[in-house]
Order: sequence, then C-alpha cells, then structure tokens
Amino acid sequence: MDLQISGKRALVSGSTKGIGFAIAYELAREGARVVINGRQPQAVAEAVERLRGLVAGAEVAGVAADLSNPAGIATLTAAVPQVDILVNNLGIFAPAPFADIPDSEWQRFFDTNVMSGVRLARHYLPGMTAADWGRIVFISSESAINTPGEMVHYGMTKSAQLAVSRGLAQSCAGTGVTVNAVLPGPTRSEGVGEFFAKLAAEQGIPLEEMERRFFAEGRPTSILKRMIDPAEVAALVAYVCSARAAATTGAALRVEGGIVSTIC
Ligand code: NAD
Repeated sequence: MDLQISGKRALVSGSTKGIGFAIAYELAREGARVVINGRQPQAVAEAVERLRGLVAGAEVAGVAADLSNPAGIATLTAAVPQVDILVNNLGIFAPAPFADIPDSEWQRFFDTNVMSGVRLARHYLPGMTAADWGRIVFISSESAINTPGEMVHYGMTKSAQLAVSRGLAQSCAGTGVTVNAVLPGPTRSEGVGEFFAKLAAEQGIPLEEMERRFFAEGRPTSILKRMIDPAEVAALVAYVCSARAAATTGAALRVEGGIVSTIC
C-alpha cells in the first residue's frame, strides 16, 4: 500500500531510539522528510546518520532539544516552524511505589509525557489547519486504560493523552487534520529492554524467564504473550499518519497484543 506521504514534513519527538526511531524509519521509507529529536546533540546526530544509512536518499534532519520544558519546545519549533505530521512519541516511565512519588515527579511526568505533546500540537496545528491537511498522533499506552499500580503517575499521563487527543480531534471537525492516539503494549525498545535486563539481573534469572513471568503475572490477559517489536508499533503509526487514513480520527488505536480485554 502506498501511504501517499512522500514529501510530507514529519516530526517525531523522542526519536533517537526505541519506538520513536522505528516510526521515523517507517515514515522516511515512505518518502516523508523526517525530523528526529532527542536531548543530546551527539545522540541526535548519530540517529540521523543511522536513518540516512538505512533509507537511501532519505531527507532527515535532527534537532536536539529537551521537550519537557517550554524552552526546549521553543528551540525545536524555531528550527522546525511547520510540519504536516506530528508524532508525539516522547514519554518517560519509571516504576515507583505510590507513597514514594513526590509532587515534583508527578509534575515531571506530566510535563514530559503530556505537555510536550500539548505544546507541540498547539504550535503546529494552525499551519496544518491552514493547509487543510495534517496528522497528529499521540503515542499513549495500554497503561492509559489498565492503570499500572506500579507506576500510577505514568498511567495518569497516558490516560491524559487520550483525553487531549480526542478533544483535539473534535476541535478539528470538518478539516483535513486528523488526531489519533496509538496504544502500544510492552515493546522491546531500548528503554524497556534495559529495564527488563536490570530486573532479570537483580533477580538472578535469565531475561527470557523474566519476560515469561512478566506476562504470566503482570500482564496475564495478553493474547500475544511476548514483547512487541518497535517496528510492529511503527507500522500502525505510519498508516495513521498516511493520506490513506483520512477517515480515522478521534480514535484510540491499540497495538498492545490484546492485553486490554474490552472489545472496543
Ligand atoms: P525509550 O526510552 O526507548 O526512548 C525514548 C526516547 O525519548 C529517546 O530517544 C530519548 O532520547 C528521548 N527522550 C527522553 N527524554 C526526552 C526529553 N525530555 N526530550 C526529548 N527527548 C527525550 O522509549 P520507548 O520505550 O520507545 O517509548 C516511546 C513511547 O512509547 C513513550 O511515550 C512510551 O510511553 C510509549 N510506550 C512504550 C511502551 C514500551 O513498552 N516500550 C509501551 C507503551 C507505550
């Protein structure tokens, strides 16, 4: 299927690795002009080079900016004033007992996971509306619906993204701009891979056993029963970003291996 986004300008937040990089790769393969973002200039430059190596002839740029605060957003939007496709992928996670999460952590999670997307959408939406074409995608999580007890603050931000995404879609009624949320399940990104490896080492068990226990005890409703590959998430996101997906808006689209047991 030709996604018909050749030449479109796309920005993927938090995309030097993990799901974000996989999304940037899919969009670049479809001919979009992609902007990669991360905090460290070195990591951004390396990701840009890596993507250029993977997709011959790809138009790829990079902007180093910490999007958890307004100054970082201003740096990015000054360097990239307009885009046709905005993927709000940036998100942090960290398990912590509820009683141990201070106000500052709640605020940091909200700023990083929710406000980064709000601020970017607020900047880029007017240009999309004027062009009568645009795609905004929030990378949420199955944790938006199944709030994880081991990181309630993370779950809160993922639920909030669904509210922002749905409301923003409604505010674009009658235009060529679509807004959607995509809900991945446990995905073997660099961040999660390192986290699982650390847990396995702490418990003195092989990584495979750690993951088996995670699905047996932590996510028993998973139908897939395995970690998702970032490319499997990116394939859905690329479709949602495409011209072919014009009738999909205001949706919360799941690529979580069936963990969420409601039918719709
Ligand atoms: P990751 O930790 O592997 O990668 C995060 C990326 O964001 C990196 O490129 C990092 O450099 C960048 N980044 C971190 N803080 C930043 C900041 N303040 N400003 C700019 N860039 C920053 O993450 P991932 O696992 O690929 O997750 C990506 C998204 O998918 C997140 O929103 C996450 O909540 C969501 N998600 C992940 C999973 C999973 O299991 N991996 C499951 C569901 C949802």
